[in-house]
Order: sequence, then structure tokens, then C-alpha cells
Amino acid sequence: MSVEQHHFIHDEIARDLAHGANEGRVHTRFPPEPNGYLHIGHAKSICVNFGLAKHYNGKCNLRFDDTNPSKEEQEYVDSIQADVRWLGFEWDALYYASDFFEQLYQYGEHLIQHGNAYVCDLSVDQISEYRGWLDRPGKESPYRTRSVEENLDLFRRMRAGEFADGTKTLRAKIDMASPNPNLRDPVLYRIMRAHHHRTGDAWCIYPMYDFAHGQCDALEGITHSICTLEFEIHKPLYNWLIQNLPVPHHPRQIEMARLQLTYTVLSKRKLLELVKSGTVDGWDDPRMPTISGIRRRGYTPEALRAFCDHIGVARATSTIERVVLENAIRDDLNKRATRTMAVLDPIKVTIENIAAGHVEWLDAVNNPEDPSAGTRKIALTRTVYIERDDFREEAPKKYFRLAPGKEVRLRYAYCITCKEVKKDAEGRVVELVCTYDPQTGHGQTPDGRKVKGILHWVSAEQCVDVPVRLYDHLFAVEHPDDVPEGVDWKTNLNPQSLVVTSAKVEASLQAAAAGTHWQFERVGYFYVDPKDSRPQAPVFLRTTTLKDTWAKLEKRED
Ligand code: ATP
Ligand code: MG
Repeated sequence: MSVEQHHFIHDEIARDLAHGANEGRVHTRFPPEPNGYLHIGHAKSICVNFGLAKHYNGKCNLRFDDTNPSKEEQEYVDSIQADVRWLGFEWDALYYASDFFEQLYQYGEHLIQHGNAYVCDLSVDQISEYRGWLDRPGKESPYRTRSVEENLDLFRRMRAGEFADGTKTLRAKIDMASPNPNLRDPVLYRIMRAHHHRTGDAWCIYPMYDFAHGQCDALEGITHSICTLEFEIHKPLYNWLIQNLPVPHHPRQIEMARLQLTYTVLSKRKLLELVKSGTVDGWDDPRMPTISGIRRRGYTPEALRAFCDHIGVARATSTIERVVLENAIRDDLNKRATRTMAVLDPIKVTIENIAAGHVEWLDAVNNPEDPSAGTRKIALTRTVYIERDDFREEAPKKYFRLAPGKEVRLRYAYCITCKEVKKDAEGRVVELVCTYDPQTGHGQTPDGRKVKGILHWVSAEQCVDVPVRLYDHLFAVEHPDDVPEGVDWKTNLNPQSLVVTSAKVEASLQAAAAGTHWQFERVGYFYVDPKDSRPQAPVFLRTTTLKDTWAKLEKRED
């Protein structure tokens, strides 16, 4: 994956710089609303905004868009800051839209004084009824003709708390017949008695997103205000407000496509619903597409940044296949994860020609991608475990794993041949009796015979059992949001998204530290849960399998 791709926003900025706009400055911002935890879509926005600032030697602010106190909380503010930093970025300045509440209020009075805003007594329902529809012009509010004096008086009394919630709004006076519904006298302020996580009860009127956003951009000196495509239709209002207010500077809005990913939903509202309903175990459940969930699952910031860079930035919306994200972490963990052997679904193998109690210590490579990771000793004993799935009683022709009479190699050890299959009363295989060939050490086969299968294994006497959580897609379908009207999107949840089990692992893994990455050879990448692990009691979370196990389940359209 390349480092930093060129994309259309670069062209836009280059054009501005060529015209000498903004004295050559580039200043972006990442503007989350603190009403939930960030998800991977936000990671894209963070990488784009901070990435552009870095590229142009500019600045990037973190701004909390905290204009809707009923949904916002300090917990979200804290988690957002932690997530941005974890991704590897540091903001130049930290602002809250609420830092500008007084200035925004003054801007409201300014619009009134210039005949560009009025206080309206229509209810929310009436306002939307009067607004008309895309193909139908709106109808003017009967309060539209109030005098400047009356409007100023009412707006001041709104602020002073003289009116009940929802009984009045401040609206921009633009054009009820505009083809763009956003210009049909949009609401700028509403009355809402809600405790704000920063300003407490100082305000009972709050600016709407559209009124706050562009003005905050201007006040912070933002040059390029990057947002997602759904704001394209808000742009004329963004520009109208900037033009009609005495703002210190004129920022420019640029829209890009939202990130969409298969097998998940990316909307804070829906993710909150999953958390509140207990469908997942909190915002940082490793199945969640939140940055905190992805982090807890063992993804690295390097992998997430590589993913964001790889998918690029475009105006056209597209859905990225989940496997692209998984390949990003595979690439990264392939380089950094220590190899070990672990058996998830064990079957006992007795190697007849090894004496009971005998231990042979063999060398195993810790990371073939990183020679400095060195080697470790693993124990070969009379009884070992292999994966149940690595044995077939009736083996098809091209089956290179273990079967009666067949020979396979135990990774880092010798070749074994299956001599006898022992079963319990129900006919279930409980033990394989094998012999090993002492001439087959160090990957050699003395007579040049071919042994294709190499199996992972652990010594039965020198292993420990550890808890393991196997995660899979949270949703069973590619596009969980695509449900017919009236159908709950949650019906698409994958009932097998979490399997709690245990594994037999090399004894040294008992001491695996929280937050370390492992490759269980042939099985997958695992992460020692930073939350539920204790010293000498690691809990292993599967970050990802080694290959895309879903690919073969899907009918591909190409
Ligand atoms: P959600 O719908 O998930 O709540 P949002 O757009 O309401 O998302 P904000 O907190 O307002 O969330 O978003 C902060 C910034 O992140 C905005 O600039 C927004 O455009 C951007 N953003 C949000 N979701 C995505 C996404 N899926 N892809 C790219 N950028 C996104
Ligand atoms: Mg939003």
C-alpha cells in the first residue's frame, strides 16, 4: 500500500494556492459531534483532514460540533480525543462550537438588523409543512414581515428564557420558492432547555448545525472545510451565511464521498442502538466498526491509516469490501506478530516411538519476516494435539493433511504417519496413533520422498488452555442497511459473530502480555485483550483469520 495518494482535493487546494488564496495557508478541521464514539468512516475523515494539513505544512483543528446538548456527553468528547491521538494525529487547536455561542448569537442579531432573519412562531410541524417539497415551492410564514425592532426584541427575549421550548425559532429570510429546500428560510436557532456538557444552563437557545458550522470554520480561520456529500445541498446556505455576516474570513466547503463498508453499519445512531440494546458488549466490542472496537480487536493505527490511504478520496460514493480492511491488518501483522502454535479444536495424537516422559526441545522461528525476533524452543513429547480438521478418516485424493496411512510433517519437527484411529462408543475419533521418522528433522526427508502437508500442533504435556474469542462479521449480509420498509435492519445481525472457546497453546503464552499481537500459525492473528486479560491469564481475541474465509461463501458478480 502506497503512502499518501493524490486525490481531487489536492487539485482543488493546488488551484487555490496558485491563485494566492488564504495567503497560501491550508487549514483544515475534523468536526465531530460528540454524540457517540467514532467509527471507521470518521477515521477516513481524520486521515484526510490531518493528512492534507501535513502535506501542505498547514494546520488541522479538532472541533467538537456541540450544538445539540440533548445527545452530547463528555464521555464522547474524551473517547474522540483518545481515538484521534491513537490514530497518530495531534490537533493544532481544540475548539468547541460552544466556544462561539456568544459570537454566534451576535451574528443572529446582525442578520436581524440587516433584515436577513426573523423570529417565527410556527411550530416545527408547521415549518416543515410550509417548506414545501423538492418539486413544490414553500409558503411564506405569516411572521416573516415582522419589523427589525420586533425581531430583535423577541430574539433577546428568546435568549432570556421568556418563551417555552419549541414555541419560537429564529429563521433566515432567504427564499421560500428556492429550488433548494435548504434556502427556504432555514431555522437558525431553537429554544431548548437542555443541560449542555460545557455551557451548563447558560443558554436556552441553541444554534442549528448549519448556522454554527460555517461560522465556526470562519472564526477558526479554516481554509478548506471538508465534509461528506450529504452536505452538498447545504453549501448554498453555508455560502449565503458567510456572505451575509461580518466574518473574519471566507472558508470553502469541499465534499467527498462517505466511506461505506460491507457487513457493517456506519452510523452513530445505529451503533448507539446496538450498544443500548445490549446486542454488543459496549462501544469497544471488537465486532463494532468503531475505532475503539477496531483497536480492541488488535488493529493497529498503521493498518488503519494504510487502509484509509489505500481506499483514496473521491466524490463518487462506493462501498468498500470488508476484506480490504482485513487485508490491511494482515499486511501489518504479518510484519509484527510473533508466531506461535495453538490448537483450537484438538484431537490427541500419540507418537508410539517416543518414550513416555521424553522431551525433545526443537527450534521454532518467532517471525520469518523479522530475523531479529529470533527463535524459541518448543517441546516435542509422546502425546501432541493437532487440529481435528487436519484429519480425515476418508480423505479425498488431494487431501494433504493427516489420514490413515498418510504421512505429514509436524511444523518445526518430524514427519509422522498415522497407524491407527481410536474411537469412542459413539464412533467419534478420540485418538490417532502415529509413528515418527527420526530421519526427517530440520525439514529433511532422507530418501527425497515428498511430504506436502505441514500441520501446526502443541505438546499435550507442555501446553496450557487459554480462553479465546473468535469474532466474525457483525452482520450476515453485505449491505445490512438495505432492508425493505418496515423491516428492522437488526434482523441482518450475524448470530455467529462471536464464538467463545478455548485453545491449547504453547506453555509460554500463559505469560503473554495484554496488548500483544500473535499469529497462531495456520489459524489467524490474535490479540491479547487489553480489557479482560490479567497477568498470567491472557484472553486471546481473534483479530482476523489468515485468509478471507467469506470469499468462498459469496457469489461474486465479476
Ligand atoms: P454519523 O452519521 O455516523 O453519526 P456524522 O456525519 O453525523 O456521522 P459527525 O460527528 O458529524 O458524524 O462527523 C464528523 C466528520 O466525519 C464530518 O466531517 C463527517 O462528514 C465525517 N464523516 C462521518 N461519517 C463519515 C464516513 N462514513 N466517511 C467519511 N467521513 C465521515
Ligand atoms: Mg452529524
